Amino acid sequence: MPARAELHCHTTCSDGTLSPAKLIARAKKAGIRALVLTDHDTVSGIEEARAAGREHGVRIACGIEINTAEGGNIHVLGYGIDSESESLALRLNEFRLTRRQRAEKIVDRLKDHGVDLSYDEVVGEAKDIDSIGRPHIADALKRKGIVRSRSEAFERFLAPGKAAFVDSMGPSVAEAIETIRDAGGWSSLAHPGTVDPAIDWRPWVDAGLSAIEAYYGSHTGPQVEKYLAAAKRYGLLATGGSDYHGPGTGRGDLGKHRLPEDVFAALELRLKFDV
Ligand code: AMP
Ligand code: ZN
Ligand code: FE
Ligand code: FE
Repeated sequence: MPARAELHCHTTCSDGTLSPAKLIARAKKAGIRALVLTDHDTVSGIEEARAAGREHGVRIACGIEINTAEGGNIHVLGYGIDSESESLALRLNEFRLTRRQRAEKIVDRLKDHGVDLSYDEVVGEAKDIDSIGRPHIADALKRKGIVRSRSEAFERFLAPGKAAFVDSMGPSVAEAIETIRDAGGWSSLAHPGTVDPAIDWRPWVDAGLSAIEAYYGSHTGPQVEKYLAAAKRYGLLATGGSDYHGPGTGRGDLGKHRLPEDVFAALELRLKFDV
């Protein structure tokens, strides 16, 4: 049984493989009734998602996932945010600029290691997206026959410790939380189980962190329990989602997470769905 709410998913506006409209159509088929769009460092898919939501009867809310420069892969989810916020637009522009600079550095590193790929070939893959990421580089490597999948590209080149890894150059966790708060929203620490050794609870709670993504798609039962206990200890809410990226990405499936209906019900008003 898929969950009836999905609070973490991506589209072609960042590194997903489905357009917002196709994602919502798929969500409808999967029995999802309420969906929060959380593309990386962009809210550009929200209008298309809202229109598709009206067509299919899926409630839509605007979210965001901000990649920080901390801890390798610390991402902060933003919920209940105003997609029209000017301060948000300005900050996200800066964050996306650092994404482009990072992608160029990764391409240089690949070249140093004898992998012939140009930045244009990467952007070619991502021409209608505005938030470039390592998955687009992986897709370009796949298109050139250098790897067979996104995961292989990460394992061989792009993951921390591999030849072409470059640290994210985004904001600090505190800046990400502030950006989300300035847009009227609240923050949840994304996929804690994948970044656990780098978690610094107290300073982030002091900076205004509101929640933890305890019910992440790939968390085990004991991990869910661990992060629920942390939420209790620090007075945080628990959120959950699958982190769906679309067909061919090998990253979870829509609605495959353990967020209980009563936990969703407690979050519902704060998520600010359109209907
Ligand atoms: P970036 O935003 O450039 O730091 O890239 C992070 C994104 O890469 C994540 O949100 C995932 O979509 C994707 N990703 C990370 N690790 C892997 C992996 N092993 N296989 C496929 N995709 C991955
Ligand atoms: Zn992603
Ligand atoms: Fe993430
Ligand atoms: Fe994500």
